[in-house]
Amino acid sequence: MRPLLVAAVALPLVALTTPAPGQPAAPGAGREWESRFLAIPSPDHMREAMRRLTARPHHVGSAYGRENAEWILARFREWGWDAQIETFDVLFPTPKERLVEMIEPTRFRLALEEPALAVDPTSGQKAEQLPTYNAYSTDGDVTGPLVYVNYGLPEDYEQLDRLGISVKGKVVLARYGRSWRGIKPKVAAEHGAVGCLIYSDPRDDGYFGGDVFPKGPMRPKDGVQRGSVMDFPSSNPGDPLTPGAGATKEAKRLAVSEAPSLTRIPVLPISYGDAQPLLEALEGPLAPEAWRGALPIPYHVGPGPAKVHLKVAFNWDIKPVHDVVARIPGEERPDEWVVRGNHHDAWVNGAEDPISGLVPLLEEARALGLLLKQGWKPKRTIVYCAWDGEEPMLLGSTEWAEAHADELRQKAVAYVNTDGNGRGFLGMAGSHSLEHLINDVARDVQDPEAGVSVWKRAQAMALADAASAEERKEIRQRSDLRLGALGSGSDYTAFIDHLGVASLNIGFGGEDDGGIYHSIYDDFDWYTRFSDTDFVYGRALAQTAGLAVLRLADAGLLPFEFAALADATQEYLKDLKKLLERKQEEITERNRQIDEGVFQATNDPRRPKVAPPREDVPPHLNFAPLENAVAALQRSAERYARARAGAQVRATAPDVARVNAILIRSERALLSPEGLPRRPWFKHLVYAPGVYAGYGASTLPGVREAIQQKRYPEAESEIMRAARVLQDEAALVDAASAELEKGTQ
Ligand SMILES: [Zn+2]
Repeated sequence: MRPLLVAAVALPLVALTTPAPGQPAAPGAGREWESRFLAIPSPDHMREAMRRLTARPHHVGSAYGRENAEWILARFREWGWDAQIETFDVLFPTPKERLVEMIEPTRFRLALEEPALAVDPTSGQKAEQLPTYNAYSTDGDVTGPLVYVNYGLPEDYEQLDRLGISVKGKVVLARYGRSWRGIKPKVAAEHGAVGCLIYSDPRDDGYFGGDVFPKGPMRPKDGVQRGSVMDFPSSNPGDPLTPGAGATKEAKRLAVSEAPSLTRIPVLPISYGDAQPLLEALEGPLAPEAWRGALPIPYHVGPGPAKVHLKVAFNWDIKPVHDVVARIPGEERPDEWVVRGNHHDAWVNGAEDPISGLVPLLEEARALGLLLKQGWKPKRTIVYCAWDGEEPMLLGSTEWAEAHADELRQKAVAYVNTDGNGRGFLGMAGSHSLEHLINDVARDVQDPEAGVSVWKRAQAMALADAASAEERKEIRQRSDLRLGALGSGSDYTAFIDHLGVASLNIGFGGEDDGGIYHSIYDDFDWYTRFSDTDFVYGRALAQTAGLAVLRLADAGLLPFEFAALADATQEYLKDLKKLLERKQEEITERNRQIDEGVFQATNDPRRPKVAPPREDVPPHLNFAPLENAVAALQRSAERYARARAGAQVRATAPDVARVNAILIRSERALLSPEGLPRRPWFKHLVYAPGVYAGYGASTLPGVREAIQQKRYPEAESEIMRAARVLQDEAALVDAASAELEKGTQ
């Protein structure tokens, strides 16, 4: 998957630009290795590696996926790395039968086929391509009247309620977009639907945005978005049969029927070519204006008279995933690991997703290998990973993280992720303790188009995009661009959410529109005609990610800082209070309108609507424990910044190793061993994927989701739990400060 990289937004903050104490003994030695590193990544190498890796389909279990893993392994070894393939055995369903037909008012069978294009050489590799489907849909054979549900979000079903339409016993047709795809069948099933079709409307990534492939980059009429619909946000990502444990040969496995993360109803993705006749056959009310796409038809909601028969059956096979894991042992601190990853598996040929992110990773590895030959030795161990099985739902990275959980909890300093790349602006998301590090890195990488640093260009874009004068003021005054919070959708998930390893996810984008995501047209031909065609942003990504790795691996004192974390939690807390207030106001006003008879009086009898039900106004919540915890963290962060700066100018060096040991635990401290309510695999109490957002981040998720789901007593207890981890974090940061302050009296 290629996650949406949240555009960085800046807010004012005390500048924290002090250099780290304990830098290499010879001043400038680290900088010298950095500038040598920056000169190495080569666009031509990346182009040739992409050509090789995308030459044939390379999904989980495929022959070419295996060959790619072997090829990547050979490259790491050639460049002087100690590399192995680690294999796990995971449940990976592939389609045995796919049938969608309209049986009323007329009969029509959907094509469910992406045609080969003569101008696109790999699009014709039919024998090796996976058919269009959604992985981890349950088997099913269902028939029912069709209902159009827009994006299939919870609020879309509230609109349907107002129109008096129930989806109980119906097949729903949802469009891709606005939420992660797996949310659509989940919410449909919760409302009683028996089946779910998901189509790509041309409004979202087709001709509405430009010429379609092969003339332009947008989705053609028969292009289909494959993808996983595993219900991981409410259970866990990775192999559905071995939750919480590595899927090794000996692992205990659940039966497929016991797997908690499969969908409850059958699901299949379709093209807009296939969807149009279904939509045209719908009657019933006209869809609300915001629901209408770009097809040249009136969009009706139904139900019916179109009646649809959907049948899917899968081979529920166990398939191997091959992770390539390569190491450069650390010279001084071999038991501190800096981990870097991008996946190598794709849905089909996968040039953009994921190879455009993998080839920069390989260039970083080649460059670090060259530095080794020139005499560089990293202080810490560097671990580079090319993950398999990311597309079905983070299989390779999750199983590896689970299999090595104890060791990673001990040793992992940070994880740096990428997942594809494009042309444009640097997107940065991740742990806020690394916010200053990645901002500093971005200031030292040149943008290939704008003649300024990639940081400056991202800041300029944030200014151009800002919604208010206040926002612009903040962006101009704040020393760093704010990091987006991590939701899910890529391989950092197990590291941050399950193990508490501070993580970053970065990539360039924003100038390369496209509609080939997870289709047979995401290939070398498309990428080299429409995206980062000369691989200069590939080079910029290798420079950015590689520099972050170098600084983490070679720092004396680890480059963790806490002012940004305190600032982010403060913002999340403000946001929670606003969320509750908004809900209180909305429900109060709606109840009042119900009492005043507003809904009856405004009803159009020819297009009748159902008044919403009365609801209890949400109670006030006591946020004081969180307010106190955030304040404590702010004080600790300020003390740490002073202690760090003080240690820098002092003659007596602090015991940096002891401080680092504390810093490495700083993300772990944000976990609760019990995890989030009803999803114990997710242990982080500051960041999580939203249960109804999927890839979207939910911040202070225990509290936020309790408010969203109207569980107010739970919201109170989650406030206490979140406050406790933030207080613990403040104490841990104080312990690090105390170490740095030793000897100053
Ligand atoms: Zn991907």
